[in-house]
Amino acid sequence: MSAETASKGRAGGRELLDALVTTLIAKGYRVMGPRREGAALQLEPIDDVDQLPWAVVDAQGPGRYRLEQYEQPVAFAHGPLAFSMRRLVSPPEERLVTLRRKGAELAVEPAAVHARPTAVIGAKGCDLRALRAQDAVFRDGAHPDPRYVARREALFTVAVACHRPADTCFCVSRGGDVRPDPDDADLLLTELVSASPRYLLEASSDRGREVLEAMPGDAIGEDDRVRASGQDHAAREAMVRALPREAAQAALLAAEETEDFEAVAERCLACQSCTAVCPTCFCLTVEEEPSYDGQASTRVRRRDSCFSPDFSYMHGGAVRGSRAGRYRHWMRHKLATWSGQWGLDGCVGCGRCTTWCPAGIDFVAEATRHIQRQEET
Ligand code: SF4
Ligand code: SF4
Repeated sequence: MSAETASKGRAGGRELLDALVTTLIAKGYRVMGPRREGAALQLEPIDDVDQLPWAVVDAQGPGRYRLEQYEQPVAFAHGPLAFSMRRLVSPPEERLVTLRRKGAELAVEPAAVHARPTAVIGAKGCDLRALRAQDAVFRDGAHPDPRYVARREALFTVAVACHRPADTCFCVSRGGDVRPDPDDADLLLTELVSASPRYLLEASSDRGREVLEAMPGDAIGEDDRVRASGQDHAAREAMVRALPREAAQAALLAAEETEDFEAVAERCLACQSCTAVCPTCFCLTVEEEPSYDGQASTRVRRRDSCFSPDFSYMHGGAVRGSRAGRYRHWMRHKLATWSGQWGLDGCVGCGRCTTWCPAGIDFVAEATRHIQRQEET
């Protein structure tokens, strides 16, 4: 294969995925991919393509998630995994520093940053766009977080084009697409579905090209591209849900009153599942944990949620004291005010908040009610 062909991509059967995993491991990456863990597909370490969820798909709906058998022996027919890549760059809990008495002195012991080179195979376009939102907050702002920046730089992503969106997906209406933006990833993988699936792998970063050039494989043919394009088109057509950006933003900006959210608040349990699974949520809190002997104190950073009353607690009370006020804040931030704050959408249309809500609250249906109400006024 010529150097020019090599830089343009690789095609092959399941053995191409084998070569990808082997090459990434040889380059020192911990490889992660979708894997069946109990009753759900999760992002987990893999060292063999047999660990991928072959012929397994997820059926997702409001408050509903089931794994089912799929008729084709493919590995990437599933929708968004229960948890996104967010936990790889922003862990749910981490120690920042410990202050320790040393006689009359105070020793400052910053926690080491663990940024293990990690390659994610099968990153969805919505989750890659969500990483842009995390980057805006933790990397590209006036005060970059060195822990986040180190983990982000250590993250290598192999995006996958979605050929079977979940029933809860609505990324296209949020400005995304079933085919991820190549600029968001190092490699782009296409799974051409059939009884004998074929894989196309293309590089979009220097790191991606290095991996590709170390791999065997055929050149990507014109037939492959035609099939990929047809598959993308069918996947877009299959995505029936939509939450148009402009209409949702206008409606939610107009929905200023807490009363507008009282009906949904009666169903909401304030359990924080939605903020735990949302790939763009970034709220954290910092707590001091003194030792029992009074000789040290450890500062720990943990995930927080705007659904917690404590989240907006300030000198004597919570700013958002009611559940309706907290739901209002969450939905307006995601759909209306985030873009003014960060220049990006706060919702990438992954649908996780709907799937994993134990009360079955449908985020799109709730936002659509606001759009309809505004159109009627
Ligand atoms: S997951 Fe559902 S019930 Fe729980 S806080 Fe979110 S909207 Fe409320
Ligand atoms: S608000 Fe819901 S649909 Fe939008 S990105 Fe977050 S979890 Fe996904």
